[in-house]
Amino acid sequence: MRVFPYFISLLLAATALHGQNQEKPAPRPHVLVIGVNGMELDVIRPLILKGAMPNLERVINNGAYGKLRTVSAPNCPRVYSTIFTSTEPDEHGVTGFLVGGITANTNMLKEEPIWSVLSRNDVSVGMANVPATFPVMPVNGYMISGMLTRGKNCEDGVLCAPKLSEVMGGDAVYPKSLQPELLKNVGDFYIDCERMPGASDLKGHEKEVIDKWLGKVQLIRDEQTKLFDYLLTKHPTDFTMLGQSCEDRTGHWLYPIAPFNVGYNVSINSVRVEAFPDQYIAFDQVLGSILKHADENTYVIIISDHGIKPLREFENKDPHAHMDHEKTRR
Ligand SMILES: [Zn+2]
Repeated sequence: MRVFPYFISLLLAATALHGQNQEKPAPRPHVLVIGVNGMELDVIRPLILKGAMPNLERVINNGAYGKLRTVSAPNCPRVYSTIFTSTEPDEHGVTGFLVGGITANTNMLKEEPIWSVLSRNDVSVGMANVPATFPVMPVNGYMISGMLTRGKNCEDGVLCAPKLSEVMGGDAVYPKSLQPELLKNVGDFYIDCERMPGASDLKGHEKEVIDKWLGKVQLIRDEQTKLFDYLLTKHPTDFTMLGQSCEDRTGHWLYPIAPFNVGYNVSINSVRVEAFPDQYIAFDQVLGSILKHADENTYVIIISDHGIKPLREFENKDPHAHMDHEKTRR
């Protein structure tokens, strides 16, 4: 696949059916990339077998898929910037959530990203909610930032979930004229998945706080689905990339780990053991909505930055062990 000569994704599924008519020149193909953070194939495969992810199943059955190796210490900005530039983190410069004490952002990119390469080659580009795309850059189309967008209540290097109207420190929408259009037609949506509650909020109220959080996650997913549907309907582009990150957030926090796993916390990990697999089922519904816009001339590529697995050994009693990208890398 020429779009990403250097693939580091965990899961790749592609489907394309080209026009077979030899007499007419083939129409310009469209490429639709869906980035899903924390796609764990070992959890997804049983769900597909059970028929719980019919849309992903259809993509897989019409294409190819596999478990691929990601970069070392695969945190989100690091991996996505590798996807954007086809280079290693040390080359593109976005080596982690924090670089030199500052939250990873697009101004740090030392290599040309795909949206720029495509734009200057006359390919129209549309991107929405893709991690590590803040502040947005000018493109031949539109860009709406995703995970690591800065705004109200955000601290450096820490995830937060600002609404479009709460963004600070840079633009979340290009072109600027698109922002009022989105606020009018889609609403004031959350740009990224909800951050996880702090230990003090959880203590003694685990079940209630977890359920409330999961409810917010679904609200955000619904908003993102509406956003994607609007963009794909009103602003179709040759190359479109959309991001989803609630799977990652839920996986790092609520993976159904067992008592012998590092970081097991009975008051949290026993509350909603299906929460993580359920995220993939919810993603599948988003995918179904997106696929309505993919015709036979569209390549669909689904990629991820990393899988999610618990630590199997019982090491130290680090309550954050399971949630730490460095420690759970594969
Ligand atoms: Zn992650």
